[in-house]
Amino acid sequence: MIVMKFGGTSVESAAAIERVASIVKARTERRPVAVVSAMGKTTNKLLAIAADSVNGRRAQALDQLAELRAFHQRETESILREDDRTEARRILDEHFGELAELAGGFAVLGELTPRSIDAISAFGERLSSALVTLAFKYFGMDAVHIDSRAVIVTDNRHTQAAPLYPQSYERLAGKVAPLAQRHIVVMGGFIGSTEAGVTSTLGRGGSDFTASIVGAGIGAEEIQIWTDVDGMLTADPTILPGGHRVKTISFAEAAELAYFGAKVLHPATVTPAIEKNIPVLILNSRRPDVPGTKIVAEAVPCRNAVKSIACKRKITLVNIRSTRMLMAHGFLRRIFESFDRYETPVDMVSTSEVSVSLTIDNPGRLPAILEELRQFAEVDTENNQAIVCLVGENIRYTPGVSGRVFHALEDINVRMISQGASLLNLSFVVAEQDLAKTVGALHREFFAEVDPVVFD
Ligand code: ADP
Ligand code: ASP
Ligand code: MG
Repeated sequence: MIVMKFGGTSVESAAAIERVASIVKARTERRPVAVVSAMGKTTNKLLAIAADSVNGRRAQALDQLAELRAFHQRETESILREDDRTEARRILDEHFGELAELAGGFAVLGELTPRSIDAISAFGERLSSALVTLAFKYFGMDAVHIDSRAVIVTDNRHTQAAPLYPQSYERLAGKVAPLAQRHIVVMGGFIGSTEAGVTSTLGRGGSDFTASIVGAGIGAEEIQIWTDVDGMLTADPTILPGGHRVKTISFAEAAELAYFGAKVLHPATVTPAIEKNIPVLILNSRRPDVPGTKIVAEAVPCRNAVKSIACKRKITLVNIRSTRMLMAHGFLRRIFESFDRYETPVDMVSTSEVSVSLTIDNPGRLPAILEELRQFAEVDTENNQAIVCLVGENIRYTPGVSGRVFHALEDINVRMISQGASLLNLSFVVAEQDLAKTVGALHREFFAEVDPVVFD
């Protein structure tokens, strides 16, 4: 068995779904289980509808709902069998009926909770998985739909839920694995339900994570992440186009890149795969013949020090100075307790004798945190910063990497340098306006020559 996950752009239109169908069909012998994301930008649209509803923009919310329904109908009706058209219409009626009710409820309550955000954002994958199942039948496959909420069990940290592995694995092995022996199973990514049966989600970009939970749960031989790029590239193509494809990379390197912003893979994806040692492949659904990136337990020997450059935009830098001459005992603890209390993850930290600088990527609860910190420290913040992160298992064995970084970035103001505790990354902060220049200079420095065994 293999798991094949298709992201939003891979199922955004009739033509895209047709490409997906032919990719899956060609692998029927490997007993594929397909995990699909919401079609195109559906998740963003659902969240916008929720925001409009809760803020009293009822007409706008209803217009957007109608548009979203028309989009789903338009992009699937030409790839349905005659006798499945009524079923598709029933699915749309049912889901959009529920959505309209939900939106009405938000308007009355005037408040969005994490639980209600999950209820609405889950509709993208609920719809796409049901419709793609019907489309697969049109393309001659024996497809069966499974509602992921019946098999992916999570805790109740809505919008960022963590899977409960034993329960999920048991259901996947009991329900999905036997079905996949005879049919092509189609499931939605991103969604699950709590033990009490309430709809939850694994966080934005979470369909990759679903694919790997499913892969581990059914004992798949491979997990394939099909997306809109040729694989893991040496730089984020939205910042620096034309990077090299990384042919093979280790789980540890891929996890680090994902954590530091390489959106092509959700950071948690590798966790179940490592546990069961299942290789993960990143592949391009528009160019299925490109061999992609293979993520495996051990990195193959490579002549380059760096495998790829990741970056995270919209970072806030927080500088905290002790109001005493030296940092007092317990100073760091008090700082981190504040961030912890407001569930705000800290990405990078650096300390000096009297000050601490750290970065966060979600400033939603920063005002409350700052109020606490100001009771015992002087604090200022800087927005529009970016983290740049060089990743490669060779960084720790190659002398002079940081020297090369500073030489390449001579005329850029580099902040907060840190060699991560994992020893396979070197990261630092620059102003977002310097990001493209920074990545360009680093790419020239570290990828002017590439080892053909590892890079394309
Ligand atoms: P999907 O909808 O298939 O899950 P995503 O948009 O989540 O796709 O992820 C794919 C995108 O990740 C690419 O289009 C690319 O812009 C971005 N990306 C960021 N960093 C990298 C990288 N190092 N290599 C490849 N893609 C990257
Ligand atoms: N549809 C979800 C999102 O947009 C999950 C995913 O695409 O992976 O975040
Ligand atoms: Mg994604």
